[in-house]
Amino acid sequence: MRHIVFTGLLAFVLIAPTQARSHGDWGHVHVTRWAIESLPPGPLADFFANPEVVEAALFGAAFPDSGYWVDDPAAREYAEYSHWEPFIQAFVEKIRAEQPPPFTTLEQRKLVAFMMGCAAHGLQDEIFDSLFLFQVDEHDGGGQADADGGTDFFLVDDGILPFDLAEFVPIDVLLPLYADIPQDITEDVVRNGVATQTSVYVNETSGTTIARAFLDENAERLPWTREHYLDEDIPGSLTAEIAPTAAYLKALWGRLHGTGSTDPLVVHSYPDEGRALRTAEPLLADSYVTLIFGQGIDIGTARGTFTDSRGRSVPFNLDGTRWGHPRPRLVRFQPTQRLREGARYTVSLEAGTERIDGTIEARLTRSMFRVSGQPECGASRRLAGGRVGFGHRSVLACPGRGVLARLR
Ligand SMILES: [Zn+2]
Repeated sequence: MRHIVFTGLLAFVLIAPTQARSHGDWGHVHVTRWAIESLPPGPLADFFANPEVVEAALFGAAFPDSGYWVDDPAAREYAEYSHWEPFIQAFVEKIRAEQPPPFTTLEQRKLVAFMMGCAAHGLQDEIFDSLFLFQVDEHDGGGQADADGGTDFFLVDDGILPFDLAEFVPIDVLLPLYADIPQDITEDVVRNGVATQTSVYVNETSGTTIARAFLDENAERLPWTREHYLDEDIPGSLTAEIAPTAAYLKALWGRLHGTGSTDPLVVHSYPDEGRALRTAEPLLADSYVTLIFGQGIDIGTARGTFTDSRGRSVPFNLDGTRWGHPRPRLVRFQPTQRLREGARYTVSLEAGTERIDGTIEARLTRSMFRVSGQPECGASRRLAGGRVGFGHRSVLACPGRGVLARLR
């Protein structure tokens, strides 16, 4: 992720709220916690039944930013690397090779949970930066430097306080995963980053003090962000990240158990079920149709279509994550011409996308949606399925919000 390197503790204390952290650390911790709490009954929810396992996941959810808290190029490198799917895939493969399921001991479970927390953080940054951050710019004229710290401080203002987390850093597993980073990533490098992050910010005392000290200034400059950072209707807001994070955790559970290559690639979409695309106007983040994946893909292999209800093509750009990483966990269909309000459209990701585990997606994934305008409500009905791999799909009516198709 794109971050601005802190130039030392003093610099942080003075300017932290205007620095970039790509979705604040507390935001990651809380969204990951909410996602775990939202899991339906089943093996993954059972896995997280022990509070110590949850806490390891939450520490993992803060971890990828730890290296940005020190003025050290090596620390920055391990932090950046820990954000992305190549690291997560290597982590998954290492667990499968050395400590495969079932995860019977507490230490094994904490290790797996920590990996899941790191992964959740990276996904959330991709979503936040690729969707919500554009909204902050459009509505408040603010950038990442404003939004990242700001959303954390709003959590404090709203009484959703940070909390102290027991440190859990599986250093013996992590260091081999950093072997390909050009800089020498030693235990000291990692522990220094983590110690600075937790002592300065990810705690209930000094972290809260810093937040409150700068809160008024950020709230004034970011009125739209202040109002909508927990608005589930806005793609990429903290609460809108909960469902895709939970779906991604379930996909990771499958990857750990060897079903990742055959589980559905697309695990979530914006607009999601029960919501319409927020605008017919192109070139705005509200017009993006976004598919979220259960594992990274090779963006060079992604092919999509965008059609109206008569099957006519709509011009669009297909883009991955905002910062151009070649193995994103999302794609954005960005229409380049005005859509029709109230009309239905379909985006499809064609078969042939290469997953990060090297397998080729054999299924077409189709997402139908309605553009905001005249809401269409009524009884549920069913439509015939897509061309490949789909049986039926439910189409749900939602009072006041139009009608959207459910991804299978
Ligand atoms: Zn981050």
